[in-house]
Amino acid sequence: MPNDSQNYEQRMRRLLPSHVGELGGDERHWLDEMALTAAQLIDAPMAQISLSTGDGQSVVSATGLNMTWATTEAAFCHHTVLSGDTIVVDDSAADPRFSSSPLVQRGPQIRAFAGAVIMSDDDRILGTLCVFDTDKRAFLVGEVRSLERLARLIAGHIQTHHAAQKAEKAERRLVEAVDALPDGLVFYDDEDRLVLCNQRYREIYAESADLIVPGARFEDIIRGGVRRGQYPEAAGREEDFVKERVRIHQNPGDPIEQELPGDRWLRIQEGKTTDGGLIGFRFDITTIKRQERELSHLAWTDGLTGTLNRTRFVELANNEFKRSVRHGCELAVLLADVDHFKQINDQHGHAAGDHVLIELVKRWKTNLRDHDLIGRLGGEEFGILLPETCEVDAFCVAEKIRQQTELVPFWYENTPLDITVSIGIGIISDHTESIDDILLSADKSLYQVKRTGRNACLLLAA
Ligand code: GH3
Ligand code: MG
Ligand code: MG
Repeated sequence: MPNDSQNYEQRMRRLLPSHVGELGGDERHWLDEMALTAAQLIDAPMAQISLSTGDGQSVVSATGLNMTWATTEAAFCHHTVLSGDTIVVDDSAADPRFSSSPLVQRGPQIRAFAGAVIMSDDDRILGTLCVFDTDKRAFLVGEVRSLERLARLIAGHIQTHHAAQKAEKAERRLVEAVDALPDGLVFYDDEDRLVLCNQRYREIYAESADLIVPGARFEDIIRGGVRRGQYPEAAGREEDFVKERVRIHQNPGDPIEQELPGDRWLRIQEGKTTDGGLIGFRFDITTIKRQERELSHLAWTDGLTGTLNRTRFVELANNEFKRSVRHGCELAVLLADVDHFKQINDQHGHAAGDHVLIELVKRWKTNLRDHDLIGRLGGEEFGILLPETCEVDAFCVAEKIRQQTELVPFWYENTPLDITVSIGIGIISDHTESIDDILLSADKSLYQVKRTGRNACLLLAA
């Protein structure tokens, strides 16, 4: 059989972790009121509420007696905890459990006592509510029931307070964790109003940071951002951009990429939460995006002249061909091959040849429009794609290019180099099935020019 002291230890282990130390002023005042109410209700000169601290009890409110009378093992409230039930002592001097207690012999000279347990919903002892009298008395059943009812009221209040504190703590912890994230994080509710976001999220959308506040509607935040130039891709199509963004936001699926001012890029991943809200992440992908662009630029261009390489030229020409067919537009291709280029290399060196290729492209580009394409298809052979250009205009452009090449010499190390170019022209027709057909007919024209003397432009009849 465990002795009283061991038994007491066992009981205490079942107690709630302490929140006594966290009691606020309001809470203490409420408990003081309860102690006073208990004293008045039972018509007792003294009342006390003590709460479990995990390893003992602490008096948190008392009326009519000194709080500094610490709760010891001899104290009445500890006996109440030990029994786990209401204790009523009509005459403590006649009760062997208390007769020798200093609280009876000296101190407040307690003669009568009633203590009720403050019990949690899941049967853990939260503390005790006790009333004391200096005279012996017979507590009435109704008085004891009232004390117990009051103890239940206190239990309910303490648990609610404790749950609110726990929730507050959990939210604080969540906010701290969310703020520590290196990426942007945001929550919206089921009405698409902002609930919570971290600091990083506001930093990312710096232009509209002051609009990003709890309660703000997603659509309003986006629309405000568009007005302030937060989204470069919205320029010129503001309302469509807002509609599209809101649509994706309300039906999140695969991640999307978003451009920010200053050539910065985000990957946005959004998903619905079980309560109909939305959680969104923003990852900075600026570095990846720039590297990708750099790589594709390298993969698409000719290192010497900066024009498109053959693969990319043919790919884009093919796209343009399809667009022309769809819209019933004209389309022309020039194939320009430098005449006797081998001789330039042979007479002036390979570097001179390189110089000529670079300068040729520069000269020709002055005659081309922004949406014309130029690509290096082979050593000294170039393709020029002219969208929405008819036969006559294509011939004019070709002729200008030929003359630009022939009429002004190319200087290399103080030596003038006379260069000419042969140009074959291909155009879209009713029989054209693919871009290759146009390239082939341009090639045939070019071959014909080479055969018949060079430094000329030719469009063979289909
Ligand atoms: P044609 O008038 O018949 O076109 O004669 P061509 O000499 O221009 O043609 P050919 O095909 O015989 O020679 C092309 C030359 O272009 C041979 C090659 O060394 C040179 N070439 C190819 N790529 C480059 C380059 O990147 N730099 C330089 N400098 N020369 C190049
Ligand atoms: Mg040549
Ligand atoms: Mg050639």
